[in-house]
Amino acid sequence: MVSALSHSSTDLDAVIFDYNGVIGLQPTTPMWSGLAELAGWRTEDLTHFQTAFWSAREPYDSGEFDDTDFWTAVLGRRPEPALLTRLRAVDTALWTRTDHRVVSLLHQARQADLPMVLLSNAPHPVGDALDASDWRGLMTDALYSARLGMNKPHLDTYRNALAATGVGDPGRVMFIDDRPDNCEAAARLGLRTLHYTGSPADIERQLGTKSAAAFPSS
Ligand SMILES: [Mg+2]
Repeated sequence: MVSALSHSSTDLDAVIFDYNGVIGLQPTTPMWSGLAELAGWRTEDLTHFQTAFWSAREPYDSGEFDDTDFWTAVLGRRPEPALLTRLRAVDTALWTRTDHRVVSLLHQARQADLPMVLLSNAPHPVGDALDASDWRGLMTDALYSARLGMNKPHLDTYRNALAATGVGDPGRVMFIDDRPDNCEAAARLGLRTLHYTGSPADIERQLGTKSAAAFPSS
């Protein structure tokens, strides 16, 4: 059992969390393969599928592309409605598994009354799914790129997230993300940053816990 975060002992007033790669787990290879097969790729062409997927993801994340636009770009043809529904569902399922160790820290921070805001590059279906997750109520607010109409590292995404924390001084707010370019942009606005590399103890330490050794580095 991990002790409660000692929020009052730190000079942090709020935290802004990235989702995927911090709270959310990366998809497994079998999950990727399942999506690729559904999209009509052969399993041995997974890398090519992922290239097509990521090449169209930014406008999907930012809300410029809707579901049909995105999957038409990935597939090279417009998908039938039934296939589009399945692609959207399987894609969303890739991004909704969480790291229970990080979710545990969210519970502790909530108990310590530390405001937390989610700032995620996510298309509408993923944002909707995350809003329906059981841990979402721990967050003060959740901002998704498709709703903002822009992706991190656009500086206005951080300005919106900072405003959502209710804290005026960015120097008293920690931004946590697994992408260094996102952290660098946040730092330009004066936010404190943690480039997360997968060790929950790093988050715990930043939040001012008394028991950073609770998560062995296994
Ligand atoms: Mg991330």
